[in-house]
Amino acid sequence: MTDEPAPADAGGALLVPAAGAAARPDPRALPAAPVTRFAPAPTGHLHLGHLVNALYVWGIAGARGGHVVLRIEDHDRQRSRAEHEAALLDDLGRLGLAPDEPPIAAFRAGTTAYRQSDCGAVYAAALERLRAAGLVYACACTRTTFAEWEAASGRPWAGMGCPGGCRDLALDEARAWSASPAAPGLGLRVALGAGSERWLDLLAGPLSDEPAAAGDPLVRDRVGNWTYAFCVVVDDMRHGIDLVIRGRDLLEATPVQLRLARLLGRTAPPLFLHHPLVRRVSGQKLSKAERDTAVREMLDAGATPAQLFGRAARLAGLRQDESPIAAGELASLFGVGS
Ligand SMILES: [Zn+2]
Repeated sequence: MTDEPAPADAGGALLVPAAGAAARPDPRALPAAPVTRFAPAPTGHLHLGHLVNALYVWGIAGARGGHVVLRIEDHDRQRSRAEHEAALLDDLGRLGLAPDEPPIAAFRAGTTAYRQSDCGAVYAAALERLRAAGLVYACACTRTTFAEWEAASGRPWAGMGCPGGCRDLALDEARAWSASPAAPGLGLRVALGAGSERWLDLLAGPLSDEPAAAGDPLVRDRVGNWTYAFCVVVDDMRHGIDLVIRGRDLLEATPVQLRLARLLGRTAPPLFLHHPLVRRVSGQKLSKAERDTAVREMLDAGATPAQLFGRAARLAGLRQDESPIAAGELASLFGVGS
């Protein structure tokens, strides 16, 4: 790639912008007053990748009179940590990024409708609607099942679906509902059916794909966790999200999520914006375990929030340089004439 910008040094880590795609949406295509969300998982500290996502979320909401919902995506109970949630709330405060809904204090006060681990009954009720429609089945597949399928077929298992034909086995759903980390049972999947889904991505344009290509998604796993694929669909519906802004690594997950939403009764799909991802020079994605790109480490080392936003804007491909941008000026990245 001859036109790739030179690597930037971020606290010792060599990072490059994701190459090859547009970074800035056409300002005229941005919807008025969108409801969007910032939805980190408390499985580590905020890093530069989150900061890129935050630029888009708060910047576009600011440019178009929108509304930012903060959601804590701790559906994976084994990997989520209360101390990580506390740290990311602190970090947002230090960065000057305030959600419109709910106030950060709502998380610190206890149970909230914006923390997934508090909302098991909501997901259970949503799944019950699908179960009543005959769309839910128990799945006994494990890593062994997948390996056996690959050995027998001579090709790699490519989808997220069930290779074991579990739907035809009519396994005992009660063994799925009672599953826990101490007593693993069965998973639960939703039968998606055939046909394609269409959506508009504000960077990639109109897209369509068949959710069945990925197979029926697991909505509750063998140890009783609700899955990302299910929680994010239910949450985007109940929180009224009409503009989903997230990294390009989730583009392929979109048709399955759109189908789940349709099956749950969502009539109008949200708009999407899948933005470029920041990667290391080696091509690796950033990891929450790596301290050199952690927001709090850089703030502790003396960087200002405006400097970090400037760095994130360049890494996202939204700016050619790293000149500082205050939290209250992020809308300038996405306005007409920017
Ligand atoms: Zn299965």
